[in-house]
Amino acid sequence: MILISAEASMTRERESCLNSVSRMNAKATAWVGSVVSKVSKFQTATQMHEWFGRIDYTTRERVTSVLNMIDNMLGTVKYQLPGPECTPITYGYVYKHGAECCSDGGKVIYLCDLYCKVVEREKLETIIHEGAHHGPAYLDDIQPDPYGRRSCQAMAKDNPDKAIRNADNFCYYVADVVAADTCQYAKDGECDEPTLCSVGTDTTDCNPDSCRWAHDGVCDEPQYCAVGTDTTDCKSR
Ligand SMILES: [Zn+2]
Repeated sequence: MILISAEASMTRERESCLNSVSRMNAKATAWVGSVVSKVSKFQTATQMHEWFGRIDYTTRERVTSVLNMIDNMLGTVKYQLPGPECTPITYGYVYKHGAECCSDGGKVIYLCDLYCKVVEREKLETIIHEGAHHGPAYLDDIQPDPYGRRSCQAMAKDNPDKAIRNADNFCYYVADVVAADTCQYAKDGECDEPTLCSVGTDTTDCNPDSCRWAHDGVCDEPQYCAVGTDTTDCKSR
């Protein structure tokens, strides 16, 4: 991966931000890889339902395939900071089908100053979002409301066909799967959010019946729902 700076004399903020891009790219790649592995073990049903509205075979296959494509492109991507078309409200952007870079036509993610100001989790979400736009995944920002957790959750609920093509849905899905059960008291049978751990990190304990088929009298773990999310049905087995 080659880092490109747009200006000969950069501000100190931009320089230190750009210096961390390589590490962020590696971490985003590790996030995506760990989620692919969890999907194959049926461990992301809660988040898959939340961000894509479905957890069937087709959805799992498509999610895995998009994640693998993101993983691939992150291995060869280049970054430029700031991009010439940045605005104060842009985290980053890409030219999806273009071969716009400098010498050899590689794929470029343009980062903006806003990216530098946000916390690490949002930086990684930005990289995954922009990575999803590039080929071979070529995901879109599905109008009219492609951005933000709330609109993406609504999209998953109302229109799963759109959610599976929307870049932001993928970045939140990945971030949430990675954060799930990172609480030090995860899977101890008690919900420790928000007292001992932050929200979204004690997922299994806090959502004992979040499986969409909870309370139907049949244990749906682990095939249809993540282990620990169909607790009532699986206890009375
Ligand atoms: Zn986008």
